Amino acid sequence: MGALEIVLLPCLADNYCVILHEPESGKTAAIDAPSAAAIKAALAERGWRLNELFITHHHTDHTGGIEELKAFYGANVTGPEAEADRIPGLTRAVTEKSALVFAGHPIQVLETPGHTLGHVTYYFPDDGIVFTGDTLFSLGCGKIFEGDPEMMWDSVSKIAALPDKTNIYCGHEYTLNNARFALTIEPENEILKKRAADVEALRAAGKPTLPTTIEFEKATNPFLRPKSRSIQARLGMLGAPASEVFARLRQLKNKA
Ligand code: ZN
Ligand code: FE
Repeated sequence: MGALEIVLLPCLADNYCVILHEPESGKTAAIDAPSAAAIKAALAERGWRLNELFITHHHTDHTGGIEELKAFYGANVTGPEAEADRIPGLTRAVTEKSALVFAGHPIQVLETPGHTLGHVTYYFPDDGIVFTGDTLFSLGCGKIFEGDPEMMWDSVSKIAALPDKTNIYCGHEYTLNNARFALTIEPENEILKKRAADVEALRAAGKPTLPTTIEFEKATNPFLRPKSRSIQARLGMLGAPASEVFARLRQLKNKA
């Protein structure tokens, strides 16, 4: 088994699809299907055919391309069992107990509810990559549409517990907006200030801000830092439980 080639493909307004290609087997997978047309064009350019689709959650901006891609390539479609009735074309429903492999690369399924109740995250331990969908973003986290803040805090904490060097790919390019909010919460965080400047430059040049890493997000993402004394002090919540500080941060971000 060879190393995976990774293509980060912008789709729709601000979504990402990530395409994985294993050169020895010639197998190709994609994480989420925002746009069949964009994914088909990216594959055609490289002479690849789609074998596997891994879906993080049921929202249309992650599932809209499934049926056309499945019809065109005959790809398998994997997604969360808890949302099986809301994801068109699903061929394999998974939970945290499911052991998956793509072209010899093991995949762990993490249940990360909160944005939606069935949302899953795909972790490739041998490759050191995690696909967090709309649960954890760079410098932010997903809106809590179906769960509650405690649930979402547990989910982002589960992702944050992965090894520091793990590369993170998420479902949207929201980093610039997230950076501006993060700076209002931790204006004195030097690593965050540097990241915010880098993100401004990357976006001005039309470049993606991903991947990021677990280590980097733990140092800069306010939603992974509700135990920080400076954040607690700024919010007037010194000593409050992490899940309550997290909930307050989410509330402030929703109003930002
Ligand atoms: Zn979503
Ligand atoms: Fe989304």
